[in-house]
Amino acid sequence: MAGKLIAPPPKKTRSGPRAGASPSTDTPAETRGPGPGPGRGQMFVTRFAPSPTGPLHLGHAYSALLAHDMARAAGGRFLLRMEDTDLERCRPEYDTLIQEDLHWLGLSWDGPVHRQSAHIAGYNARLETLEPLGLLYPCSCTRSDIRAALAAPQEGVAHQVYPGTCRGRPMASRLPGDALRLDLAAALIALSGADLAFLETGPAHAGRHLVDPDEAKTQIGDVVLSRKGEDIVAYFLASAFDDADQGITHVIRGEDLFDFTPVQVILQHLFGLPTPIYHHHRLIRDDQGKRLAKRDDARAIAKYRAEGATPADFRRMVGLPNP
Ligand SMILES: [Zn+2]
Repeated sequence: MAGKLIAPPPKKTRSGPRAGASPSTDTPAETRGPGPGPGRGQMFVTRFAPSPTGPLHLGHAYSALLAHDMARAAGGRFLLRMEDTDLERCRPEYDTLIQEDLHWLGLSWDGPVHRQSAHIAGYNARLETLEPLGLLYPCSCTRSDIRAALAAPQEGVAHQVYPGTCRGRPMASRLPGDALRLDLAAALIALSGADLAFLETGPAHAGRHLVDPDEAKTQIGDVVLSRKGEDIVAYFLASAFDDADQGITHVIRGEDLFDFTPVQVILQHLFGLPTPIYHHHRLIRDDQGKRLAKRDDARAIAKYRAEGATPADFRRMVGLPNP
């Protein structure tokens, strides 16, 4: 069952509700049923969560429009979250530009923008509650490897399963600059008996999916959760906390993240957080069939705007109905 193994809650950080608690900040108090997905009669709440490391491009705009349309159709809420914990790569001007592009597309969001950079201390405090359970270890493997592991996974870049070089190192040996990894095998033992599953409603994998512990060990491995001294928190971890804190009932995101959903589910159970429903959508590709990379400014929404395209043209281009 979810919450069987629950790390002790941190001392009053801003965030930190456990399963069943009311989401903090801007979401109305709602109750959640057990198991995957929101409880009966619960309001639909979703989010768009870009990283302000470049301009909004076609693929991400599709994701935002789809999430927005689904929320509005369900009479629910659409929230905006900036995944800006990598302070070296994220820029305030992209944060502003992304919001301008979303407004231009006709999107509005409920409540203030949630910026992950404002919550890093809370994420780390919650992460460290796993330490007394023996589920974390420090890792000093190369900085670039670890840095790459902290970012959202990219399609076409094989996820490197960590060979476990530093596993078994005591937490007391942690040095400045070391990353913290999850001992996945230990975590799965701690979660034995838990209902590790999620409900998927996207076109490619609709149905209920069980997390296979052996597959998780061979395909995911000991993921990096944070890096000390650089205030960087792994994408997976920050998403798990934020989805719970913001009362997200439906995660709508690109198909490229489907294979990483088991990591989210494992983290949700470790921290006693609910598992939302997942909806992985198709990826918008360019004429050559290549996924539109974030740094491909040629497909930036700002460029379409400058060329005189209208939001209606844009919706047609990505195959979404006009409201
Ligand atoms: Zn290591």
